[in-house]
Amino acid sequence: MNPPSIVIHNLVKNYGETRALDGVDMEISPGEIFGLLGPNGSGKTTLLRIICSILDYTSGYVRVSGLDVSRDSLKVKRITGYVPETPVLYESLTPTEFLNFIGSVRRIDHETLARRIESFASAFEIMDKMNTFIGSLSFGTKQKVAIMAALIHDPEIIILDEGMNGLDPRSAKILKNLLNDYASRGRTIIFSTHVLEVAETVCTRMSIIYRGKIVDTGTLEDLRERSGTSKLEDIFLNVTGEGDLGPVIKSLRETMSS
Ligand code: ADP
Ligand code: MG
Repeated sequence: MNPPSIVIHNLVKNYGETRALDGVDMEISPGEIFGLLGPNGSGKTTLLRIICSILDYTSGYVRVSGLDVSRDSLKVKRITGYVPETPVLYESLTPTEFLNFIGSVRRIDHETLARRIESFASAFEIMDKMNTFIGSLSFGTKQKVAIMAALIHDPEIIILDEGMNGLDPRSAKILKNLLNDYASRGRTIIFSTHVLEVAETVCTRMSIIYRGKIVDTGTLEDLRERSGTSKLEDIFLNVTGEGDLGPVIKSLRETMSS
């Protein structure tokens, strides 16, 4: 087993009076596609932003490929690729222009960059949209451009915050294959979702997070065994606590109907 590339101990994050992360422990190894599951407001985005060193934390220990995310922020940003929950794209650029811009910021040589842009565009089947202004593209196509931008420097650590959202089934499948390919090349992938189906089909292991705490971690089989139920939805409802079923179910229903 490879040494873990993401190691987190007792991580706490407060936003003023709000405790968003309350003693999170986590270890993820290269080759894993790790899912972070939890209803809205459970701390997923906060945790992922801390891992890619764009958000500071209150206390705890966070290492990414051996780097301290608070001290070695720049190095962490170099080796990570992050797809934010709400991607920020330049609407008045075309995907080609935008990816060339990101590539120059990442200092990728021209030839490599051109080759990667072309192979991503072809994999995601958006060759015909590469010279259209981003502002006029569909939500799903924008999401693909955001994913391409996050992967263009071939990062060691890939972080997707709700990255499957807005993708049609075919594109989601392409992304899954791509993530499998990255994982088989020893990259570490962590992604959040509140859509349980996504986790079921993509993850090698997962954590369920609720109110800033990790309530269970393991493979789908581990979680099933421990909870004595086979459906991830039931496991999820069990571990997130019966006393709080109301809001959890509400969040799930919203998900199912969205
Ligand atoms: P998730 O991604 O699982 O929906 P978040 O990490 O966005 O959860 O939020 C976790 C908690 O922290 C929520 O209670 C949310 O309201 C709070 N929170 C998130 N961002 C901020 C912020 N910038 N300022 C204050 N509270 C925040
Ligand atoms: Mg979020």
